[in-house]
Amino acid sequence: MTKAIRIHAIGGPEVMKWEDVPTPEPGPAEALIRHAAVGLNYIDVYFRTGLYKVPLPATIGMEGSGTVLAVGVDVTDLQPGDRVAYAGGPIGAYSTERVIAADRLVKLPDSIDFNTGAAMMLQGLTAQYLLRRTYAVQPGQTILVHAAAGGVGLIMCQWAKHMGVNVIGVVSTKDKADLALAHGAAHVIIGHNDLATEVKKLTHGAMVPVVYDSVGKDTFAASLDCLAPLGLMVTFGNASGPVPPVDLGILSAKGSLFVTRPTLATYTAKRADLVSGANELFDAVSSGAVAIRVNQTFPLSHAADAHRALEARQTTGSTVLVP
Ligand code: NDP
Repeated sequence: MTKAIRIHAIGGPEVMKWEDVPTPEPGPAEALIRHAAVGLNYIDVYFRTGLYKVPLPATIGMEGSGTVLAVGVDVTDLQPGDRVAYAGGPIGAYSTERVIAADRLVKLPDSIDFNTGAAMMLQGLTAQYLLRRTYAVQPGQTILVHAAAGGVGLIMCQWAKHMGVNVIGVVSTKDKADLALAHGAAHVIIGHNDLATEVKKLTHGAMVPVVYDSVGKDTFAASLDCLAPLGLMVTFGNASGPVPPVDLGILSAKGSLFVTRPTLATYTAKRADLVSGANELFDAVSSGAVAIRVNQTFPLSHAADAHRALEARQTTGSTVLVP
């Protein structure tokens, strides 16, 4: 037997139960891994609350690092003892041991410890595809990043700065503003009540070519108002709730805008994209350009407390759950 957090019903953090579950056997193309660390991500909240649907009972969690214990007969490029990490589905990371398709794993460089590996994969690969592929930012540009002191946010601030890009970060408190500035944001805006006016001042009227908005419902309209003509609205999360249906006419009225709703799953569906994204991320972290801030750790058995903190906006940077 092994241990896992399971949910038998959707609901608040209290639905997560620490239970005995049978140790799974790897199928032919799978690996059995023992987690050293599990990454906490906002998507875990969406699964727990039912915003994203999943058959029950379920073990949520999309990210982890650990050691390979066994591999299926068709797996040739991994062996027991390898240090690995992963990000993305299927869910199942809130566990001591799990099986996962071997082609979803990447080997963790020796220079990256397990906690950092578990913290960085999902948020770091997201920052990579958002800044390099969804909209390929260019040196000298100024961009708007919401939740700039969060997990994805602190990585984006640092990486964008390293690419010569000026980040205007949006945060909710002065402490978070200081943190975003210390991690490379060029400017910060506290709150989003008068976002367009602030962005207009900071860009001398030019506005921004791209907005990265993970807050969703509360900020979608304000974010559109910050875009320059032909700008791209990247709405990639729902921390305040999902964006309600949109009248597309608003895009023409505000300057022939573009909108995309990307997911990491699409951008890493091909193994080649997963590996190239991970290599860029490992290089960014190993070179010191991007520091992964594990600002909170919780025992995995206390995942409910971690969810409470994340939903109450009490966390900064990344959070790791330790089995
Ligand atoms: P964060 O560490 O960024 O935590 C969420 C932050 O959102 C909070 O700290 C808070 O920052 C802000 N926020 C704004 N409004 C609310 C609200 N009503 N309730 C709670 N938080 C709010 O989380 P992650 O780094 O894990 O994820 C960031 C976002 O990116 C999430 O929306 C997530 O779903 C999304 N995401 C999307 C991916 C994709 O591929 N589409 C992949 C990875 C993440 P503040 O207090 O400063 O406002």
